[in-house]
Amino acid sequence: MRCGLLGQKLGHSYSPYIHNFLGNYTYELFEIQPDELSDFLQNGDFSGLNVTIPYKKAVISFCHELSPVAAKTGAVNTIIRRKDGTLFGHNTDYFGFSSMLAQSGLSIKGKKVLVLGSGGASATVSSVLKDAGAQVIFISRTGDNNYQNLDRHQDASVIVNTTPVGMYPSNGDSPLNLDAFPSLEGVLDLIYNPARTALLMEAETRGIVAKNGLFMLVAQAAESAQWFTNTKISMDRIANIHSKLQAQMANIILIGMPGCGKTTIGKKLAEALGRKFVDSDELIEKTHKMSASNIIKNFGEKKFRQIETETLKRVSINSGIIIATGGGCVTQPENYNILHQNGTIYFLNRNLNALATEDRPLSQCNHLEDLYCERKQLYKDFSDYTIDNNQDIRSTVEAIMEQENSYENSCH
Ligand code: NAP
Repeated sequence: MRCGLLGQKLGHSYSPYIHNFLGNYTYELFEIQPDELSDFLQNGDFSGLNVTIPYKKAVISFCHELSPVAAKTGAVNTIIRRKDGTLFGHNTDYFGFSSMLAQSGLSIKGKKVLVLGSGGASATVSSVLKDAGAQVIFISRTGDNNYQNLDRHQDASVIVNTTPVGMYPSNGDSPLNLDAFPSLEGVLDLIYNPARTALLMEAETRGIVAKNGLFMLVAQAAESAQWFTNTKISMDRIANIHSKLQAQMANIILIGMPGCGKTTIGKKLAEALGRKFVDSDELIEKTHKMSASNIIKNFGEKKFRQIETETLKRVSINSGIIIATGGGCVTQPENYNILHQNGTIYFLNRNLNALATEDRPLSQCNHLEDLYCERKQLYKDFSDYTIDNNQDIRSTVEAIMEQENSYENSCH
């Protein structure tokens, strides 16, 4: 059985990875240009397709029949080739977003929900929200309700972002800030790369529900797989695949005092997990042709911190890598969101008398105790977990891997 994803420019797609868990069929990426679309749909060798930007509407005229959901939302993201060769079109984004909404735990019946953007996903999302009894308001750059008159909607309970604002590689951008919405209970963002957009991190800071679009991505794929294979896929299985993918995509970030073993542990961890390893100080040295310690000696710490923040920005937009940071990165508050957007942060704690101080100018100039006093709380505030690094390397690596596994299992 030959299935795949149809789109114009697919780049790095997670769909083959997800479908690999979902059924026994091959899943390929079909990058098709608009002038090739008609021939591909009529004569292409496929049994089932997912459809993405920009073809979710264009494929409709090639379908002999649409499911009620596809007809209602005016978008097709799943095509089945029937026995007689004709095409059946369905929209599994509806199920995908319903599942994401259910997983968020938000109750929206009778509440005002702002949907940012008025593209294809917005239509499907609003259909789900209306069916669940919400009062839906579209916020569009060119609409009656727009980003200039958001104060009309101070009573909004939930915001759903269906714009691409903040999506990789434009990490850090946000369509709005949440100050205008005192009654807000949660934000759902269809974006899943980065795992936490700036909008979601703002929601997190406010202590309200903040969910990305990865669950939707997996759930819509699962419903497509059901259509491809005619086999039921349970919600538990969807949650399981979501957790696996989430763990694969998350960076593992090591912070801690200079000389506490971040590079050594990071390399071993990368080896054990088969992931890429990046040391931010090494990257700075490579890019600026000068070691971190010489930059500090020659240009001062302030200049070094600017370079470090820029480097962390560049590194942290990647997914699934291991990052060893410089010991002082926690002194710059903006580095928190940069690291947190895509990863789990581990504070490697090592006894001060065991820290390496060679070629570490800040550790040599300041008493280590003073430096630790200054930074201890910052390490704690930045980190998701503290890992003791006073035993052998293997124990520390295993402790992090164990934590990663328990995190993956707790996400079900
Ligand atoms: P789309 O058809 O291009 O629509 C995006 C809408 O966002 C536009 O219609 C526009 O609405 C608004 N927009 C675009 N650029 C903007 C900007 N610079 N500032 C503010 N608003 C902007 O795209 P789509 O297919 O609906 O997808 C939208 C997003 O959802 C993408 O990030 C996509 O990856 C994601 N998505 C995720 C899943 C999932 O499974 N998680 C599924 C589908 C889509 P206005 O002109 O009205 O402002």
